[in-house]
Amino acid sequence: MKKLIARDKLPELWEALAARGPLYLPVQEGPVVSFKTWEEGAEANLEATATAVSPKDVFLPREETFLQYKSDGTKLELIPLEDIDPVTVFGIHPCDLRAVEMLDKVYLEQDPPDTLYKKRRENTTVVALSCDRPDPFCFCNEFDVDPADAPGADVMAYLRNGNVLLEARNDKGRALLEQAGDLLQDGSAESVEKKEVKTADFGLNLEGLPENLKERFEDPAWDELYKSCLGCGVCTYVCPTCYCFDVEDFGHEREGQRFRCWDSCMYGHFTEMAGGHNPRAGRRERVRQRFMHKLRYYPETFGEIACVGCGRCLRSCPVNLDIVQAIKALGGETVEQR
Ligand code: SF4
Ligand code: SF4
Repeated sequence: MKKLIARDKLPELWEALAARGPLYLPVQEGPVVSFKTWEEGAEANLEATATAVSPKDVFLPREETFLQYKSDGTKLELIPLEDIDPVTVFGIHPCDLRAVEMLDKVYLEQDPPDTLYKKRRENTTVVALSCDRPDPFCFCNEFDVDPADAPGADVMAYLRNGNVLLEARNDKGRALLEQAGDLLQDGSAESVEKKEVKTADFGLNLEGLPENLKERFEDPAWDELYKSCLGCGVCTYVCPTCYCFDVEDFGHEREGQRFRCWDSCMYGHFTEMAGGHNPRAGRRERVRQRFMHKLRYYPETFGEIACVGCGRCLRSCPVNLDIVQAIKALGGETVEQR
């Protein structure tokens, strides 16, 4: 099913989609574009290359309560959590959706799966947006991501001059377009040409890198690489494939809650234990962990490097200690580029 809508009619579409539950889309606020829930008057920006922070929080919120209780002193009662509404995310780029599929391996494809993540994933309709203007930091081609197409999308959207073409890819996508009713025109005559979109070539050679890193836990490269790191944690917060969280309990014998919030392996307290021991007490150990996780541990478990080349760590790290620098320092560079 293919449908068309004029660009100037999009606010009406946002309103219709937001009526069924939260609608996340890239919103311009000053110089920053981030995925936010749509409200009347919000300035959606579908032209932005990458949002400052990835849209992973649609599925893995920055903070969420996952257990609440109360007690009258004799009996403990668990308070059911509120139901998760149907969610629409509009404008997620193929690299970011590929990253969500990496989170799926961690949160869905384990036994047992993560209940809240599973509900969010099932209740969310994903409208991916073809990306044809990568910036100099985008390098998703290195990870076999096609910026023009997201195979995992429920609906694929293409910006066409004054229109947006929406192509439903499955039942969920068709249901969403049907719900928009008369706001959408028939687009069945429109063709979707296969476009080749080139992203930056940093001369990386990823062949065999995860295996190569198996013997390099004490490699001298780590002794230099970590030195500029400030430990700010920005790289992990903006990254679509970072997924660590912290769990906290608040309350007393009458009532309380357990919630989780994003955490970062770049923080000193991340691995600190109750007795005070910290296996990653220094920045060298923490920087090594971040890059080893992406380049060795995740591939060892799930068969692929945990990076989609979105470029956010390149844009955001205040000292340019990004994954490209790390791969090069570890020898993952083509000889010609040296
Ligand atoms: S690598 Fe960069 S962004 Fe990440 S914690 Fe260190 S200084 Fe911050
Ligand atoms: S490591 Fe950097 S380039 Fe790779 S997915 Fe994370 S933020 Fe994007």
